Amino acid sequence: MNKKFRVFATCDIGEAIELLRKRGYDVEVYPRPEAPPKSLVLEKVRSGIDGLITTLRDSIDAEVFEAGKGTLKVVAQFAVGFDNINRADANRYQVPFTNTADVLTEATAEFAFFMMGALARRLWTAEHLTRENKWGFWHPYLPFLGDEVTGKNVAVIGTGRIGLAFIQKCVGFDMNILCYDPAYQNHAFVSSIQEINALRHARGLVKEVAWIKYVAFEEALRQADFVSVHVPLLRDGESATPTFHLFNEKSLRLMKPTAYLVNTSRGPVIDEVALARALRENWVAGAALDVYEKEPLPADSPLRDPSIADRCRLMPHFASAARITRLSTDPDKGMAGRCVQGLIDVLEGNYGGDIPKMPYVVNKEAFAR
Ligand code: NAD
Repeated sequence: MNKKFRVFATCDIGEAIELLRKRGYDVEVYPRPEAPPKSLVLEKVRSGIDGLITTLRDSIDAEVFEAGKGTLKVVAQFAVGFDNINRADANRYQVPFTNTADVLTEATAEFAFFMMGALARRLWTAEHLTRENKWGFWHPYLPFLGDEVTGKNVAVIGTGRIGLAFIQKCVGFDMNILCYDPAYQNHAFVSSIQEINALRHARGLVKEVAWIKYVAFEEALRQADFVSVHVPLLRDGESATPTFHLFNEKSLRLMKPTAYLVNTSRGPVIDEVALARALRENWVAGAALDVYEKEPLPADSPLRDPSIADRCRLMPHFASAARITRLSTDPDKGMAGRCVQGLIDVLEGNYGGDIPKMPYVVNKEAFAR
C-alpha cells in the first residue's frame, strides 16, 4: 500500500483521477471548468500536497514552489507545451515537472493539416453561403474561389515531433516541404521522405517528384504557399533562438501575398496586431489560428475584425481535443494517462528513484548526478 499521497488537480482530467484514487491517493479536483485563481493553487500547495496536476492555464513559478518548499514533490502538466511553468524556478527549488509529449502529436498534426485545407478551400465561408441561403447560382468563379493544397510548397517551422508528423500528412498531398529548425534537423527523416517521394513517382502515382529540404527561415517564408508553425514558446533569454513574436511585421512581409499561415503552436509566437494588419492589407492571403497571445481570445482582439473574417479562421485551442488523445488512461495513448503516470513515477520512486531516467520528466538537468 502506498503512503497516502495528496494531490491537487487544477482541472478534471477524467477517469485517470480514479486510477490514482484506486492506488490509495487522496486527490482533490478543482470542480469548475475554468482555471482556479492562483491564490487557491498557492493555498493548496501550502497545505502540503505531494503532487500538483496542472494545465497550460496555470502559472507555475517561484511563488508556487516557495509555497510547496519541502512538501511539493512533482508538478504533472497535462500538455506537451510547458511555457506556463518557469523551468529555472522549478530547477532552483529542485521540483521535477512532467509533460505529455508524443500522445498528442498525431492529433495536433492532423488538426493543423485540416485547418490548412479548411482555410485554403474556404470551407467556413462556403458553408455560410449555403446556411444563410445566399447560394443563388452555380458559377465558374463567383462568388469566390479557394486555393488547392495538393502539390503546393509548405514551410514547416519547427521539425520536432508535431512538425515531422505534419510533414507525413503533407506527403499524401504531393506537397514540397521547406523545413526550418535552428536547433534540431532530422536529416534521416528527410531522406526517408525523399525515398517515399521517389517511389511514388517511380510507381506512376504522381507526375513529378515532390521535394523536401532544410532551408533558412527567410527562404522558407519566401517560397512557401503555406506556412505551418510547430515551435515551443521560448521567450527572450530562454533560448538562443527565441520564438516569441517570430512572426512579426518583418517576417510576415517576407511571405507571398498569396500564402497562408497556420499556427497550432503557441499564440505569442505571432504578433497578432501585425498579423491582423497583414490580413487587412493583403500581405498574406489568410491565417488559421488555434492559439492566441491571450486565451480565451478577448472580445476586442484585432483578429475579430469582420473585414478579415473570411480569411482568418479562429479555433479555440482545440488541436489536441480528440477523445482518445485527451482522456485515455493508457499512458501510450492519452494525455490523462501520461499525466498521471508521470506523477506516479516521481511520487512512487519508479526507475529506482532516478529522476533523469523517468521518461516524462522534462527538467532532468536539475537532477543529473
Ligand atoms: P518538440 O519539442 O518536439 O518540437 C519543437 C521544435 O521546435 C524542436 O525541434 C525545436 O528545435 C524547434 N524550435 C525551437 N526554436 C525554434 C525556432 N526559433 N525556430 C524554429 N524551430 C524552433 O515539440 P512538439 O511536441 O512538436 O510540440 C511543439 C509545440 O506545439 C509545443 O511546445 C506546444 O506549445 C504546441 N502544441 C500545441 C497544441 C495545441 O493544442 N494547439 C497541442 C500540442 C502542442
